Amino acid sequence: MGSMILQKYTRGKKCFIASWSLASSSPTATPYSQSFLGRTLERLHRFFHFRASGCQKTLIMERKSRWFEGLIPRKPSDYAAFVFMIVMLWVIAIFELFVVLPLYHAPFSTWYCIHVFCGLFLWLNVFANFFMLITTDTTGKNLGMPSVLKPGWSYCPYCQLNAPPRAHHCQVCNECVLKRDHHCIFAGKCVGFRNYRYYMILALYLWLGAVYANVFHHEYVTEEIGSFGFWTLLTLFTPILMWFLGYTTVYGFFISFMTGLSIFALILFSGLLFFQVGIIVRGQTSHERKKKKREYDLGWKQNFQEVFGDKWYLAWIWPTMSSPLPGDGTNYKKSYPQEGKDL
Ligand SMILES: [Zn+2]
Ligand SMILES: [Zn+2]
Repeated sequence: MGSMILQKYTRGKKCFIASWSLASSSPTATPYSQSFLGRTLERLHRFFHFRASGCQKTLIMERKSRWFEGLIPRKPSDYAAFVFMIVMLWVIAIFELFVVLPLYHAPFSTWYCIHVFCGLFLWLNVFANFFMLITTDTTGKNLGMPSVLKPGWSYCPYCQLNAPPRAHHCQVCNECVLKRDHHCIFAGKCVGFRNYRYYMILALYLWLGAVYANVFHHEYVTEEIGSFGFWTLLTLFTPILMWFLGYTTVYGFFISFMTGLSIFALILFSGLLFFQVGIIVRGQTSHERKKKKREYDLGWKQNFQEVFGDKWYLAWIWPTMSSPLPGDGTNYKKSYPQEGKDL
């Protein structure tokens, strides 16, 4: 919270409602009068103090934006997907580690430790890459965009600046994103030039985690809910309905939900990886794929380096491993430089 400052008005009277201001030096501070509390105070001030003393001061209160506000998605559907993913990552890790693993291996035995190490490596990498995905600046704000429209550049009427080739404006993020691929609803953020690497490694580890979880709990789940027949499949994909109908217990519902979700995640991430690796190999973005443009295709190895950086073979170990990207996100090599020079 910002520091409290008591303001005195020219009339010399104190306004008990409007005089309190939460001052903030942060340029990203949200006007407090836009919040529910701010609007209520504004109404109270107008109703009581304007009548009593004629004070016409508009209540403008500001509060400091909290550090985590920039990380949380603004769109409700993104927010729901974001929360669901974070919660389920915790639930699945706890289920595999504390329910399934002790049934197969004695605590602290060699295989127990190997599974804990592999599981933690995947889980921590998922969170670390997710964190880097949402905190990396995907715009060209710090580069300073030229005031003159260069060849191949375009003017963005929303941002009111010239955007480089392959940059596109995102209506949700409300900014122009360098080499924009798409807006990820789970991250509530656009995937572009600077965070594509984290997105792909995140997708890879989520896929590996889904394979691991499905294989690992397969035997336990089959014992708990029976072999894969019609009713079992129905319980897996409609656990709430089957629970209501009395075909399964609360624990059976939980197991079915976890198993159904793991299978769904495996299908989803397999499709996602297949699609994304395909467009990286062709040197495209999702937008260019729709338009069937392949002017930036430099061969599969160079295309991978454009996403994962010079040290692409180290990028998978941990997101903070340095792997500089070629260029700054405003200039891209073309497959046919002579033809594309003045486009
Ligand atoms: Zn824009
Ligand atoms: Zn976006």
